[in-house]
Amino acid sequence: MDFRFSNEEDAFRTEVQEFLKAELTPGWDDQFDTETELGAMEQGDFAKQFQMKLAERHWLALPWPEEYGGLGANVMQQVIYNEEMAYKGAPTGFNMGVAWVGPSLMIYGTPEQKEEFLPKITNLEHTWCTLYSEPESGSDLASLQTRAVKDGDEWVINGQKIWTSGAHRSNWGWLAARTDPEAPKHKGISMFLVPMDAPGLSMQPLVNMAGEHGFNEVFFEDVRIPANYLVGQENQGWYQLAVALDFERSSIAGSARARRWWEKLIGFSNEHPQFVSANPKVRHRLAEIGIEVDIGKYLSYRVASLQQAGQIPNYEATIAKLFSSELGQRLARTGMDLLGIYGQLHPKSKYAYLNGGIERYYQMSVSETIAGGTSEIMRGVVAIRGLGLPKG
Ligand SMILES: Cc1cc2nc3c(=O)[nH]c(=O)nc-3n(C[C@H](O)[C@H](O)[C@H](O)COP(=O)(O)OP(=O)(O)OC[C@H]3O[C@@H](n4cnc5c(N)ncnc54)[C@H](O)[C@@H]3O)c2cc1C
Repeated sequence: MDFRFSNEEDAFRTEVQEFLKAELTPGWDDQFDTETELGAMEQGDFAKQFQMKLAERHWLALPWPEEYGGLGANVMQQVIYNEEMAYKGAPTGFNMGVAWVGPSLMIYGTPEQKEEFLPKITNLEHTWCTLYSEPESGSDLASLQTRAVKDGDEWVINGQKIWTSGAHRSNWGWLAARTDPEAPKHKGISMFLVPMDAPGLSMQPLVNMAGEHGFNEVFFEDVRIPANYLVGQENQGWYQLAVALDFERSSIAGSARARRWWEKLIGFSNEHPQFVSANPKVRHRLAEIGIEVDIGKYLSYRVASLQQAGQIPNYEATIAKLFSSELGQRLARTGMDLLGIYGQLHPKSKYAYLNGGIERYYQMSVSETIAGGTSEIMRGVVAIRGLGLPKG
């Protein structure tokens, strides 16, 4: 791989850094981290205004063609943008519309679907959630049972989804449903666009171990959507979905966020040496994590570099995801050990150090090795596709 950035890419990084310097006051994220629901709520209005500014600059969907609200940027520019935004903890929001619904529509959508949906993703009118997982289908997603049955010029949907992140804040859903129950499991799935206010669709909040409402159960009872909300070819959804899972796979945000937290812990250790003296092994772990933060970055650059060269990253992206999610957990554990009993204090406690961020990070990082595919599944992919080992 080539580690150098082009002059154009370096100039873009400077532009993003200057934008962030102008828009985010120093230490602005110290109170609540934007990656937590609590942070997102506390910073609600500010985050909305910030995202509008990103939309005006056409930065929300950088690589998209200009006609759809993007800038036609290359992969490296997208990685630079993601890295800088995550490093500063900027409230970019996570709009799955930008990440995979839009890119999938560009490949598989009809001209009418592109015209109707793409501009509304980039102007923030539509916020999307992803309706894949079910109570009995997670790692083995192809076994999903939610049914879509054609009835005249409509599809009728019945079933249940689970772990749907942000469904309560989304007005559209990107749904995988079974359209041919007789076919082999990978060959009977189709993709749909679903308005989240459709009659018959309801949801229940799921509160995670950190006490935050980030995801939901979503129920479909005879939900009717127009026939033209099917995306791509009927029963070919699994293959479209596999392509959608390939978008945005560099995982640079995970290692950039780890760098921010690692720097915070180093700063804290220097200001409060008594915490390090009380637990000397933390010094070595902080040193080790400093090395790992760089490794995480380069693993992500490798993925982007392959994409830039027109290749499709496979196990390389899996390695980056596996490494950065486990790095987040190692870092959070180290922060917890450094702070000792103070590490357990919630951001709302006046006695909390680092504004309680480590307590949030520790609890939230548990899900990182589950979301988007578990570490066991990731290791399986590396073993089979990367090392050529036989299937277990
Ligand atoms: C924070 C978060 C956000 C999420 N957001 C969404 C979302 O927006 N939309 C959505 O559709 N889903 C979402 N998910 C769901 C996520 O994709 C699934 O949780 C994940 O794919 C694992 O599936 P599961 O929970 O059913 O676990 P299971 O697949 O039941 O796995 C249980 C355990 O068995 C292990 N296991 C399973 N199969 C194998 C195997 N073949 N080899 C070895 N070990 C195996 C797993 O590693 C795991 O430890 C989210 C999850 C989290 C944690």
